[in-house]
Amino acid sequence: MFDKILIANRGEIALRVIRAAREMGIQTVAVHSTADADAMHVRMADESVCIGPNAGADSYLSIPAIIAACEVTGAQAIHPGYGFLSENANFVQIVEDHGLTFIGPTAEHIRVMGDKITAIDTMKALGVPCVPGSGGGVPDLETAQKLGAEIGYPVIVKATAGGGGRGMKVAQTAADMASAFQTARSESKAAFGNDEVYIEKYLTTPRHIEIQVFGDGKGKAVHLGERDCSLQRRHQKVFEEAPGPCITPEERAAIGKTCADAVAKINYASAGTIEFLYENGEFYFIEMNTRLQVEHPVTEAIFGVDLVREQIRVAEGLPLSFGQDELEINGHAIEVRINAEKLPNFSPCPGKITAFHAPGGLGVRMDSALYDGYSIPPYYDSLIGKLIVHGRDRAEALSRLNRALGELIVDGIDTTIPLFHALLQEEDIHSGNYNIHWLEHWLETKFG
Ligand code: ADP
Repeated sequence: MFDKILIANRGEIALRVIRAAREMGIQTVAVHSTADADAMHVRMADESVCIGPNAGADSYLSIPAIIAACEVTGAQAIHPGYGFLSENANFVQIVEDHGLTFIGPTAEHIRVMGDKITAIDTMKALGVPCVPGSGGGVPDLETAQKLGAEIGYPVIVKATAGGGGRGMKVAQTAADMASAFQTARSESKAAFGNDEVYIEKYLTTPRHIEIQVFGDGKGKAVHLGERDCSLQRRHQKVFEEAPGPCITPEERAAIGKTCADAVAKINYASAGTIEFLYENGEFYFIEMNTRLQVEHPVTEAIFGVDLVREQIRVAEGLPLSFGQDELEINGHAIEVRINAEKLPNFSPCPGKITAFHAPGGLGVRMDSALYDGYSIPPYYDSLIGKLIVHGRDRAEALSRLNRALGELIVDGIDTTIPLFHALLQEEDIHSGNYNIHWLEHWLETKFG
């Protein structure tokens, strides 16, 4: 059992981990940059260590500083949160080499899922449905054209080393292939120093559906249903819900079992998310995230489980505290991401919070590191809070979201709160009739 853990992160996710640890009677160590000396995670942890200057690269990404902070404080394990070092296999290896425990999957699993082609090959071999495609790097234009004809247009050319939606180009017809292939290659070379690309069928109106899985690292795993995260801007999720409005119980059980069986077979440990595009009743694997996701609270709400507590338990070597047949969905949950951003361009808007009031009441959870008088530093991600609501059904969750947004006050800076007020006026949001392009189209018609 751990007595003390270190959280290698900041903001709301650091608080999230501190809360789970405290309920388990585990001491917590916060790490912080100089800019974050007054941050809430520093105030809330039992101990804190300054690990470097403002820039994330010099502090939250500094592996030697984080390992040293463990040694100084006697922390036995590290929770990485999301972002920063959470999917860095090298970091996990170093943590283990120092006799510490990483609260998450093994370095090897992170490495396999971090490489797109290896991840697709692995999932395919494990029986997970993938997008029809080249199945590997495409060496030249001639091969690309041959594959395009075989797969059927439209197709998408994607960087093997890709991330953050970069190095992707759609070829609508055979005539577009030459330019899509060359552009994806040169963009990939510029962004990732590697010009290898692969080709997939392009799905025109899919939804983003992701399956939450959890493994014990010893061959047992469960799934906790899906989240629909189709409302995205520039591939960034802004509104997430569970269960997915278009997924039937039969579909959930089938794809959930496929995913749980797949991760059980590789002895996967801890939380993981298998992301799919979903179109016309079919699931197509796109990637696996080997960490806790930002949007994990909607899953916690409908299943009534604490995923961070479970991560800590599994890292301690304990078995899963729930079996598949104990996991039952109760109601509907929605999360909206409150970012320090100015609409309509979503430009970052750091600054001083002059008033903050978090909503409350039945079925309302506000995960945020904000407080009155806090100054949001300009160096990090613009996510400043997550509002999660839970209702008996989707309609109740939506009206609760409307009510809770009305209570939420964040003064002094611009935020994405008005975006959600506006979205709640839309019929498509109430009917659940949206796909991964809906939000971009809506923003275009609204703001041009
Ligand atoms: P990245 O790692 O760069 O985020 P992904 O492979 O996860 O790349 O794809 C990012 C997004 O691009 C997806 O969420 C989806 O919106 C779009 N996309 C990727 N592959 C396809 C495809 N085959 N068809 C349609 N859209 C796709």
